[in-house]
Amino acid sequence: MAEAKTVHSPALTYFSMISLLTLCPPFVILLWYTMVHADGSVLQTWDYLKQHGVQGFIDIWPRPTAIAWKLIACYAAFEAALQLFLPGKTVEGPISPCGNRPVYKANGMQAYAVTLITYLSLWWFGIFNPAIVYDHLGEIYSALIFGSLIFCIFLYIKGHVAPSSTDSGSSGNIIIDFYWGMELYPRIGKNFDIKVFTNCRFGMMSWAVLAVTYCIKQYEENGKVADSMLVNTILMLVYVTKFFWWEAGYWNTMDIAHDRAGFYICWGCLVWVPSIYTSPGMYLVNHPVNLGTQLAIYILAAGITCIYINYDCDRQRQEFRRTNGKCLVWGKAPSKIVASYTTTSGETKSSLLLTSGWWGLSRHFHYVPEILAAFFWTVPALFGHFLPYFYVLFLTILLFDRAKRDDDRCRSKYGKYWKKYCEKVRYRIIPGIY
Ligand code: NDP
Repeated sequence: MAEAKTVHSPALTYFSMISLLTLCPPFVILLWYTMVHADGSVLQTWDYLKQHGVQGFIDIWPRPTAIAWKLIACYAAFEAALQLFLPGKTVEGPISPCGNRPVYKANGMQAYAVTLITYLSLWWFGIFNPAIVYDHLGEIYSALIFGSLIFCIFLYIKGHVAPSSTDSGSSGNIIIDFYWGMELYPRIGKNFDIKVFTNCRFGMMSWAVLAVTYCIKQYEENGKVADSMLVNTILMLVYVTKFFWWEAGYWNTMDIAHDRAGFYICWGCLVWVPSIYTSPGMYLVNHPVNLGTQLAIYILAAGITCIYINYDCDRQRQEFRRTNGKCLVWGKAPSKIVASYTTTSGETKSSLLLTSGWWGLSRHFHYVPEILAAFFWTVPALFGHFLPYFYVLFLTILLFDRAKRDDDRCRSKYGKYWKKYCEKVRYRIIPGIY
């Protein structure tokens, strides 16, 4: 079941799982501490840890406070209610490996609009000041770390005792089951999809909410917002808006259609996205760099172009699949491979692989603009410190690993047809290079 078992050697798989399980939580706290209390300087934090040792680290780890739990609970309940009750078109996800077809309510864009309007209105009318969120950020991350671990234990138990569909199963190993998850489409009741909640409505939504929070905090602190912060916030918001605009398309991607609900995906979306993905903005709060209008506009334009290309790659693939290849790709009939595969229940099905347009440049070309966009919303921080660039580095490693995982999975799914695709489109990510 869980893909990672087949991709790397067992020793490397266990090593990386255990490392990520143990190192990610303290890393989130160290990143927050460095951004907020150590001027974004890794060296400063390193010196502090050298002087104070483990006790020093325990001292900087904020305890989850009542206000942190309250903020998280209100936000989670609000997002869950929007997911359940806002109207939206019914859409079907892709056929699962067990031959099921999950059904979703596509109300992400509405939820996104309601969330941002509500948050800004609370601030505007003086009901709630988002700067409070920044002031309690460490406690919030601490609460998220522990709360999400408990949530992943719940997912593990649910996978064993009450799976929502036949797309579930145990690898026979407790660490793999906990880390990679057991259920592909866990639900509470018939309609509340847990992965839509964790990945989209909690994780991705928190990215936009925190981007706005950082901007407001800088405004409250300095009475104005630096152009670097504006460029960063606008680009991150354009990216998240694109995500919700295309949310139903996201339900066809690896995260939802292949990765099971466990620590990797769910803890990642509940903790890693709100902390690490938003970190360039977190850095800018107390580093109000002035870029000047011209440079700010160039960076903004470059970032928006990358986000658009990334969107267009995803759109092209999905339009091609949706129309069964009867569409135009860059103004021409698409070139394609008709690939057949066998589901776990033994049925033979066929699928189309696009070999022109963006998908003819390399097999995962869409990762190039994704990484560049992240670079462009970080570069307003300029080059005083390395830490704001951690997300770009992390994303690059994540996507290069993901391209390998996806290639391996597709090779075992499509066999000779995938080989044919690789012969036709030789490069994995960067055309002509890799
Ligand atoms: P996708 O799921 O969109 O694409 C991979 C899948 O598409 C494959 O598993 C295969 O699935 C199908 N496929 C592969 N090649 C072709 C082809 N030539 N023609 C048609 N279908 C093909 O990839 P991702 O989930 O990785 O990416 C989706 C989006 O999310 C991207 O924009 C990416 O940049 C972004 N992303 C962002 C991350 C972040 O942390 N910021 C992390 C990961 C992704 P099938 O089994 O259906 O054939």
